[in-house]
Amino acid sequence: MDKQEELEKIAREIAACKTCPLAKSATHSVPGNGNPNAEIMLLGEGPGYWEDQKGIPFVGPAGKLLDELLASIGLNREKVFTTNVVKHRPPANRDPLPEEIKAYKPFLDRQIGVIEPKVIITLGRFAMNYFLPLAKISRDHGKGRIIEYNKRRLILIPMFHPAAALRGAEIEKQLREDFKKIPEEIKKLEKISNPGEIPPKKEKEQLKLI
Ligand code: URA
Repeated sequence: MDKQEELEKIAREIAACKTCPLAKSATHSVPGNGNPNAEIMLLGEGPGYWEDQKGIPFVGPAGKLLDELLASIGLNREKVFTTNVVKHRPPANRDPLPEEIKAYKPFLDRQIGVIEPKVIITLGRFAMNYFLPLAKISRDHGKGRIIEYNKRRLILIPMFHPAAALRGAEIEKQLREDFKKIPEEIKKLEKISNPGEIPPKKEKEQLKLI
């Protein structure tokens, strides 16, 4: 199976998921879309009204701003893969609960495993805290770092959520500035550490660790 087929299989499983905690109240599942071979994954929080109507992530007002931000650094949705932490809309757009995030985790982890992105750009605190539980969006936005996740090394760059930017001019200004710096953050971090699979430790090194 190629990456596209694997992603479609995951999407079908999400659509058919009877135990997913947010499935009952949702119109459509929103598995994610974009380039299966993307080096960059965009990770939001969860579908809103428009995403729930269409089954596609970031198609409402926050999505319009996201498109503008991507264009400001020469990217578009076809070049990246866009998805969310939870794959069904939380009722009335409330925050996803910890047990809901946990319930959708196998889907997101499988998507990350298939796409093998070099870079994950998180949008908002829920997506950031998925990888960095102690991080604070007000302090850590715009600062890329290398993380190890499921045996892969990748670059994680937390951003404010575009919906938060639509609610406040100061956040919007910061988000636009942070986005502009993404290419240089990636270049800087790629020099420090090559993203990709972490090779298993040699026997000698493993023994030293015991
Ligand atoms: N907000 C999100 O976090 N995700 C979407 O897909 C849309 C709005």
